[in-house]
Amino acid sequence: ALTIGIVGLPNVGKSTLFNALTRAQVLAANYPFATIEPNVGVVPLPDPRLEKLAEVFGSERILPATVSFVDIAGIVKGASEGEGLGNKFLANIREADAICQVTRVFADPDVVHVSGDVNPKDDIEIIATELILADLQTLEKAIPRLEKEVRAKKADAGLLAAAQEAQAILETGQTLSQRGKKIEHLDELQLMTSKPFIYVFNTDDAGLADTAMQDELRALVAPADAIFLDAKFESELVELEPDEAREMLADNGQEEAGLDQLARVGFHTLGLQSYLTAGPKESRAWTIHQGWTAPQAAGVIHTDFQKGFIKAEVISFDDLVAAGSVAAARAAGKARIEGKDYVMADGDVVEFRFNV
Ligand code: GDP
Repeated sequence: ALTIGIVGLPNVGKSTLFNALTRAQVLAANYPFATIEPNVGVVPLPDPRLEKLAEVFGSERILPATVSFVDIAGIVKGASEGEGLGNKFLANIREADAICQVTRVFADPDVVHVSGDVNPKDDIEIIATELILADLQTLEKAIPRLEKEVRAKKADAGLLAAAQEAQAILETGQTLSQRGKKIEHLDELQLMTSKPFIYVFNTDDAGLADTAMQDELRALVAPADAIFLDAKFESELVELEPDEAREMLADNGQEEAGLDQLARVGFHTLGLQSYLTAGPKESRAWTIHQGWTAPQAAGVIHTDFQKGFIKAEVISFDDLVAAGSVAAARAAGKARIEGKDYVMADGDVVEFRFNV
């Protein structure tokens, strides 16, 4: 599964956030596909559509999609020089598919800040700089090798061009994901700063209410997504029963838990989307990549579904709920029969037909 690596300077609240994520996972532990690993938190992707489907179909259980977070401890200034845990840290980041940086905004004077005072902008820059330096080192080694290989016709000239373009951008102090512009072949170079970024600003009550501060930080990290949450509050929230948690959120003036927001943003940042299946046994969300076709989507349920794919009966979630049942949706002409070239849309409710 695709993973999101959680990084950040010491004392910003990473462990607090990660512990909250793993507590949220305990509730998900009865999922058939859940494996518990110490540094991985697999959290359910909140999806109110599933509850609605379970009502329509009288499903016994609900299985949401999940998002996996990996705790990557240990970034410090100088990580790119291999200091301390530097090398291990960089290796762990390379394995992640997206990076979530936790940045401290909360002001608690009892919690020491590594560089003396709370300054999210500096914290973001420190980590970006380490990753940029590490990528530049990678490219310094890769470019001469690629030059030779291109001359010997063993490598694509486009790959060399991508490496050179990436180097030029990084030398200006920008990360590659910040650039936004798509560089062809970039992914093949496996650079860290080309991975999508999410910023979690660990905030206190004052910060959660300070929209001007939030707008400023949002603008600073754009086009990456910014999430504002109180890690301590989130870690208390996951200990509560759903009803109590909802009440506590409402008291706090929040519509959605920070962790839920993080799961949702993380899922989309990874380029994922879900489609839904429903029946008396379960209402379930299945994870696919954006742009996948119907047979690829069927393959997530079972490889035989993909191999023997004939067609898919697709009803959009809204149409199905409006009609009240599959039969009524069919009668209203809302059930579409789609073939092997159909590109799945988020929230499609699907039944596959296949040969065995
Ligand atoms: P890490 O080093 O980044 O993993 O940070 P920790 O999660 O260990 O947090 C460092 C300290 O800050 C701990 O004493 C936490 O209790 C405290 N802390 C974490 N999040 C918050 C927060 O949102 N508000 C306040 N006031 N303290 C926090």
